[in-house]
Amino acid sequence: MNLKNLKNEVLLQNTKNLIKEENRILAKVLAHFQEIESRKLYLELGYGGLFSFAVKELGYSEAAAQRRIEALRFLKKTPEALPIVEKGNLNLSNLSLLERITKEAQATHAQNVEALNLIQAETTSAAKAENKLREFFKLENKKRVISMEVDEETYQLWLQTKAKMGEAKDAVVLKKLCQSRQQSESKKTQPKVRQAPTARIAGVVLRRELLKEAGHRCQYVSPINARRCENQHFLQCDHKVPYCLGGETTQQNMRVLCQQHNQMVYQNLKSINL
Ligand SMILES: [Zn+2]
Repeated sequence: MNLKNLKNEVLLQNTKNLIKEENRILAKVLAHFQEIESRKLYLELGYGGLFSFAVKELGYSEAAAQRRIEALRFLKKTPEALPIVEKGNLNLSNLSLLERITKEAQATHAQNVEALNLIQAETTSAAKAENKLREFFKLENKKRVISMEVDEETYQLWLQTKAKMGEAKDAVVLKKLCQSRQQSESKKTQPKVRQAPTARIAGVVLRRELLKEAGHRCQYVSPINARRCENQHFLQCDHKVPYCLGGETTQQNMRVLCQQHNQMVYQNLKSINL
């Protein structure tokens, strides 16, 4: 299979077709799992359950087996989901998420269907899908664990701050501290950017303004499908009109790009001999 000579559009379309195929196969695999379970075939083969059968006999990793079994549980109680999986509007991770949440909420069949409709075609992150479902079922948000090493001085400061705030629970103290920090930041008036527009590099103040304006996310917008990148890592300040073409280092002429998009824009510039 030589893909090197394919045009971008063909490569993209072929990939999308393959993913459709992948979804149809997923639906088939889950249907087979269901039949194996109803026949209890794994017992005859000497496995105590579907999970150990999926790992040892079928060669799935433990996490992959777990996701498929959760997906199967949801499909069994909500057969309406199968055609949606086949169409590719419900992926495996959202299916297993549906099972975990509806189980926790002890949902009825009607609620399962509602939850299904809520997140089908959901292409945002798994965390967003989970929040949506938790909100729907009025479940408590997932608890996160923060564990960090601090030096003795920080530890003593932490104890003193807790004592002064009269709070026993670490989580409450941390929340109040973070909230007050955010409030004092939003109260600050916007600093004026005083920087010579001819300087090449954006200074600290300009950079801070640009990042704030961009919501601390990459601002690259694809000319093909108008999708914005939104990457949050390794952000860099880039000139819209290139510096070498007289573009100024001002808020109007600057934008925030992630490292990958900054490099891509730079390569494109180089390829048209700027
Ligand atoms: Zn980007």
